[in-house]
Amino acid sequence: MSKNIRTRFAPSPTGYMHVGGVRTALFAWLVARQNNGSFVLRIEDTDKEREVEGSEKHIINTLRSLNLDYDEGPGKEGPYGPYRQSQRLDIYREWAKRLIKEGRAYADPYSVEELNNFREQSKISKKPFLFREHRPTRPTEWDGTQPLRFLSEPKDYSWHDEIMGDLKSTSSSVDDFIIIKSDGYPTYNFAHIVDDYLMKISHIIRGQEFLASVPKYLNLYEALAIDHPKFATVPFVLAPDGKRKLSKRDGAKDVLEYIKEGYLPETLLNFIASLGWNDGTEKEIFTVDELITKFKINQVQKSGARFDERRLLWMNGYHLRSLNLDDLYARSINYWPQSSHGYSEEYKKNILKVIQERLKYLSEIDSLTKFFFEDRKVDNHLITNDNKLKDIPSESLKNLLIQAKECLDQSTFTLEDITIKLNDLLIQTDQKPAVLFSLIRIAVTQSASSPRLFETIFILGKERTIRRIDKQISVL
Ligand code: GLU
Repeated sequence: MSKNIRTRFAPSPTGYMHVGGVRTALFAWLVARQNNGSFVLRIEDTDKEREVEGSEKHIINTLRSLNLDYDEGPGKEGPYGPYRQSQRLDIYREWAKRLIKEGRAYADPYSVEELNNFREQSKISKKPFLFREHRPTRPTEWDGTQPLRFLSEPKDYSWHDEIMGDLKSTSSSVDDFIIIKSDGYPTYNFAHIVDDYLMKISHIIRGQEFLASVPKYLNLYEALAIDHPKFATVPFVLAPDGKRKLSKRDGAKDVLEYIKEGYLPETLLNFIASLGWNDGTEKEIFTVDELITKFKINQVQKSGARFDERRLLWMNGYHLRSLNLDDLYARSINYWPQSSHGYSEEYKKNILKVIQERLKYLSEIDSLTKFFFEDRKVDNHLITNDNKLKDIPSESLKNLLIQAKECLDQSTFTLEDITIKLNDLLIQTDQKPAVLFSLIRIAVTQSASSPRLFETIFILGKERTIRRIDKQISVL
């Protein structure tokens, strides 16, 4: 274990966090936690055009909802702050000046049109566009109003990536690039290098979109005479068909939405970690503690992982079933129907006990449990749409319900006694369970499906059950 492991999550505040972003954060968090290291949140807010108001707060809320706590970051100042890049502009300027002094950065004199022209020319001559082939011969002094460009020294590189393995590039991947824009803000390409160094980051864990730029970064690290952290490049999350990067239309939704729908944080972490990682066995379910001990960054697959929402649903059911009743109750608090107001904790816990085995996410609690709190209007379609009931004459259905009512009325209403009485009724009436019990279920719940019938009746209690059967009888 090393205390010097420091990882960071460095989002740009440009919108919500989808599973891909959370996965990068999670992997960085796991590496920090499993090494007793630190996890830093750095807000990379240097692209004012792409910034979306409220995203920083949204990102922090997402991390908080998933219990991905950070040791340093906005609102949690540490020794290397500030942790918002927009508050570090002086630092970047200082570092940029060092590069100018050493002849490794210059004012870019070109307008957008001129640059486009260069690009056009390269296209026509079928050569890759390289800015360094258009360096001004006598650049003007940088006064902060022009973009400042890094002056590269092209060369071949080979380096190691914790996930992608040993990588190589040729000098054509190294070019001059903007480090400070004309609005005074640094580019990502420059700012992250300075910040990772000053914040003593040991591992850069980030998405695949930055991989092609690593040779440029290596050149800049050399020019600044600093060592680079270890690199770990996380491959894309792919759409369910595995053919393209996951996008909004494939369901890359805001992870906070999943939390609101009642996916448990431990499910989301388990699911997201499993996008491209396993421990080398068939094991699929991991607790957060297990993830911390078992996760290995160099075991993450190089190829993209497919996003499968059905698997997420399955996993959530699994984690929900693993909760003890008190824990499940604590998590259910915000998901009960309004009509549940005033009902006791004990009543709600009894309901949870019977729905836990079929619960897939917490926001289902509202629809699954409404009938425990509200007498609903009798819906005749429930019978006319039921294949086993629709051809039975009303009179017979009515008789069955009258008998059910009588037998329940005589019951002591323990779960055991309800079970005995209704099973006896089955024999007495010579009916199939699918007929008799569906009919009773419809009468007492006004829905075609419900948790196990005897338990449902037990929870509802005698008075409510009989009242509802009576109501159904009156409309038959
Ligand atoms: N600010 C970059 C982004 O949001 C982060 C890249 C990194 O992790 O270094 O894409």
